[in-house]
Amino acid sequence: MNLRNIIRHMLFEGLAEERALDRFANDILIYVSECLLKNNEYGIYKRENDDYYRIYSNVFVIKPNTLVHFENYSDSVKNFIIKSGIRIFFTTETQESGTKGYYIAPNNIFLVYQIDDFKDIWQMLNGKYISFGDHVLTKVENLDIYSKLFYKFQSTILHELKHAYDYYVSKGNLTNSKRWRKHVEILKNLPQDVTKRTFTDMNRKTTSYLKLPHEISARFSQALGKITFDKYDDTWTDRNKKDFKDVFKDFKIKFENWNVLTDQMKRILIKRLYKYWDEFEVKNDN
Ligand SMILES: [Zn+2]
Repeated sequence: MNLRNIIRHMLFEGLAEERALDRFANDILIYVSECLLKNNEYGIYKRENDDYYRIYSNVFVIKPNTLVHFENYSDSVKNFIIKSGIRIFFTTETQESGTKGYYIAPNNIFLVYQIDDFKDIWQMLNGKYISFGDHVLTKVENLDIYSKLFYKFQSTILHELKHAYDYYVSKGNLTNSKRWRKHVEILKNLPQDVTKRTFTDMNRKTTSYLKLPHEISARFSQALGKITFDKYDDTWTDRNKKDFKDVFKDFKIKFENWNVLTDQMKRILIKRLYKYWDEFEVKNDN
């Protein structure tokens, strides 16, 4: 398969699937915050004399009945969840610094956290949290914990979920592309001794990685999760559809490493974005 076909295949899902995956990422975090709030099997742990906050247990097994909006997802995302049995691991270990998450096929998603990432949640659960305006939270609610988790992990979960979903949809063929074989060649030609790698070596490796079809597909979902196709009108009563040029401007900013992509890749993604925008209909409740 050539690059164009693979990207097309991976982006085949459509807007409904993209929105379902985004919702799925949120619902995972709602589940995690419920578990933390119950504070029996799961919790945040800190020793007396250090400032290191750990989550225990660090594995969350995701099933349909753990997801509040499961019934609203598209059928293909529902089937993916039922068949894949996604597991979310929180970890402090990474192979490369700066990594926020990674995916190990077929169903393992790793979220990397820093030693103080759970500090505010620990404070909430232990009655020590002071929010803006010096107002102490009297009763911690699910939403308080969820909003902290959302800010730190939602976009990364969505990225890794897209890998798992593409793996599922392509029946494990994520790496069956010319780009992937080229990437493997580049990796082989790097000095084996990591300390001997130059800036140019590292740059080549990163650039080639960022151009892999499944990486593009995951960053596409992330960018889509961060933009909207509509906005409130001047009176704040109704929502209106945005112009495509404004949507595209946001999209380019939110798409990580957009400039690394070739013109051909950019064209494919813009076409897809345009199709989603075109399909989109504003829903006003009143
Ligand atoms: Zn990735």
